Amino acid sequence: MRTIVQKFGGSSVADPSLIKNVAQRVVHTKDEGNRVVVVVSALGDTTDELLDLVHKITDHPGEREIDMLLSTGEQVSIALLAMAINKLGYSAISFTGFQAGIYTDDAHSKARIIKIDPQRVRQELDQDKIVVVAGFQGITESGEIATLGRGGSDTTAVALAAALKADLCEIYTDVDGVYTADPRVVPSAVKLDSISYDEMLELASLGALVLQPRAVEFAKNYAVPLSIRSSFNDYEGTLVGEVESVENCRPVSGIAHDLNVAKIGIFDVPDCPGMARKIFLTLANEKINVDMIIQGWVRDDRNDIVFTVTRGDLERALPVVEAIVKEIGASGFVYNDQVAKVSIVGAGMVTNPGVAADMFKVLAREGINIEMISTSEIKVSCIIQEDQSIKAVNALHAEFIK
Ligand code: ASP
Ligand code: MG
Repeated sequence: MRTIVQKFGGSSVADPSLIKNVAQRVVHTKDEGNRVVVVVSALGDTTDELLDLVHKITDHPGEREIDMLLSTGEQVSIALLAMAINKLGYSAISFTGFQAGIYTDDAHSKARIIKIDPQRVRQELDQDKIVVVAGFQGITESGEIATLGRGGSDTTAVALAAALKADLCEIYTDVDGVYTADPRVVPSAVKLDSISYDEMLELASLGALVLQPRAVEFAKNYAVPLSIRSSFNDYEGTLVGEVESVENCRPVSGIAHDLNVAKIGIFDVPDCPGMARKIFLTLANEKINVDMIIQGWVRDDRNDIVFTVTRGDLERALPVVEAIVKEIGASGFVYNDQVAKVSIVGAGMVTNPGVAADMFKVLAREGINIEMISTSEIKVSCIIQEDQSIKAVNALHAEFIK
């Protein structure tokens, strides 16, 4: 008998009739002879609404109480979904993260799952029940409720699938799958039938917001096959799994763009050991996430270091950078938050030379200036001016996705 974990996002359970639809889909999967575990997010925009309430009460809510509050969203959905399934004449039971044995570290609001002990889930499955688990939450060693970061129900689903050695983890959402680019920006974007974990990881972290990047990491590490599909129709979604052979891969599978980017440059950093350590350790200690880092060629024992952060972190980063500049004796710093990152991603890039050059050719032809470049084996990213990003992704899509 196959075990299938199905995850439904907030938009898939936004109101009672949608919850009933989900129940139908779940029992259909059960009827096909599967053991079914369902992970749900909070109804619609509940999590945002709960956060709005917090801001009406206080500016300093405390992270423990925020998690206490936010975790209630998913508890509403699991209970309602279990009731809807029971109403259809099947037997369902709902579990909070704790009851499902999901243990996390104590980093409230961005906790990581450290262990899953799915004993109760297994017991109920053995009793032929459908188990409905609250996404986005777990329990710390000291017994506190912790949440996994926005979009965290994806990670709950994949982690549970790994712990249960499930045959498939289906992520149901409001889009039909993973597209070659954001269809709202690139009208000619098409749905991909399949994609590798690594490509999905790049796309997920590059701003293609279909899946929480951490969920993809989990899936890759535990080889959990994922299917990303819509809860509003019956189309086959996109399968995320291991690639069979890199040689058969497309050089470029998808184009991503991310507007949540700001760049910071530090001028004339002294060229001696320990400078980069100083800069990036200080930023890391302030919990500022750095993405691209570029250092140029040394001239007169000095070097410029340029890096990017999210726009949300920029305000906190600037005073930190100012202090670093003084401390290390750099000559100054600049920043710009009107930039965007456009990227091409494809597992076949490894074996296809010239893909990066083709990308630069397209941008040049469109008169788009490249401000920073970074690459990995399977992606090339460029920082450009924000107001040129739509033109850039469309031109890149036309060039690479045929
Ligand atoms: N409800 C949480 C959020 O909106 C978790 C999730 O949807 O995955 O981020
Ligand atoms: Mg949500």
